[in-house]
Amino acid sequence: MRIVDIREKTVSLAAPMRSAGLGFGEMTGSALVLVSDVVRGGRPLVGLAFDSIGRYAHGGLLRERFMPRLLGAAPDEYADGQADSIDPVKVWSIVMRNEKPGGHGERSGAVGLIDAAAWDLAAKTRGKPLWRVLADRYRGGRAETRVPVYGSGGHYRPGDDLARLRDEIRACLDLGYTRVKIKIGGADLSTDLARIEAALAVLGGRGEALAVDSNGTFGRRRAEAYVTALAAYGLAWLEEPADPLDFALLADICRMTAMPIATGENLFSAADTRNLLLYGGLRLDRDLLQMDISLSYGVVEYLRILDLIEGLGWSRRRCVPHAGHVLALNVCAGLGLGGHEAAADPGSIFGGYPDGTRIEGGYVTVADHPGVGIEHKPDLYAVFRDLLP
Ligand code: MG
Repeated sequence: MRIVDIREKTVSLAAPMRSAGLGFGEMTGSALVLVSDVVRGGRPLVGLAFDSIGRYAHGGLLRERFMPRLLGAAPDEYADGQADSIDPVKVWSIVMRNEKPGGHGERSGAVGLIDAAAWDLAAKTRGKPLWRVLADRYRGGRAETRVPVYGSGGHYRPGDDLARLRDEIRACLDLGYTRVKIKIGGADLSTDLARIEAALAVLGGRGEALAVDSNGTFGRRRAEAYVTALAAYGLAWLEEPADPLDFALLADICRMTAMPIATGENLFSAADTRNLLLYGGLRLDRDLLQMDISLSYGVVEYLRILDLIEGLGWSRRRCVPHAGHVLALNVCAGLGLGGHEAAADPGSIFGGYPDGTRIEGGYVTVADHPGVGIEHKPDLYAVFRDLLP
């Protein structure tokens, strides 16, 4: 199989909402297509990838460095040894040629898109869903077809914030989610406590059904005030209470509170994850690791991350990847992770799941579509229409 073309475009993901750290009014993501020379049903077989959300599109890096490297490689450099297909692990090594270690910046998201498209293409060549391909290759065939999931939202929005928040959480429950996450830190503490209590009222007062996310914005004093105020609610977790790279403050926060802490969505490599686990003070009996698969160089690097965390005594069940959830669902099911975050709103292109995917009682059951399944989420697939051969 030869990769004959790679196409990408930037897609607007703008929305009138904000977290403590940023507004989404300028948000973008990338859609990417790997075009192969294999023809199925009269059309070239393709691999598709769509960005995770939060760090903008990656077109510049893709066009200048990573797409030319793969297009310039000979097919036998990335060939799968057994099938007429590509090996995504070899693809990863090709696109990362001549790259220095460290300083991951935005390149990890660009490489993650090519990685995801390569896995999609490799799985489609076999006529299997990606979760099955990953389970067969890395887990002796064992897959978890029901995956814990939580609905992510609760952003600050203009207008009647508390009423909208309640409506959003009710909609999540109606969709089959049992746990939701809302934003904190974008208002003062008393406003945030009112939002938490409004959310808890919809959730029947169950603190374990609610997580809160301060998006890496707290300094020491504010972190102290929040963990003290939140202690009584028994929440599922507090997310990113400190700057993503401030491991000293994170370790202090872990000492301040028994509440579970979740973090990692703004770390992009196994090396960064090692530092987090060695110096961030996280506790392996309760805390959650949220490295984003697509933004962290893709599945190939995520496999290294799993090896690393297990070598440090952590269970992969404590891994709950951030965003990019159509890909993350496949990785969770195939590699046995502890669950993933989902943008709950099925009305947005990055929310909801491919047709045939069921959410019930806080678990999502995978479908059997070949590859990642993007073709079976019509609004997302429509984004790719003008990129397809
Ligand atoms: Mg977060």
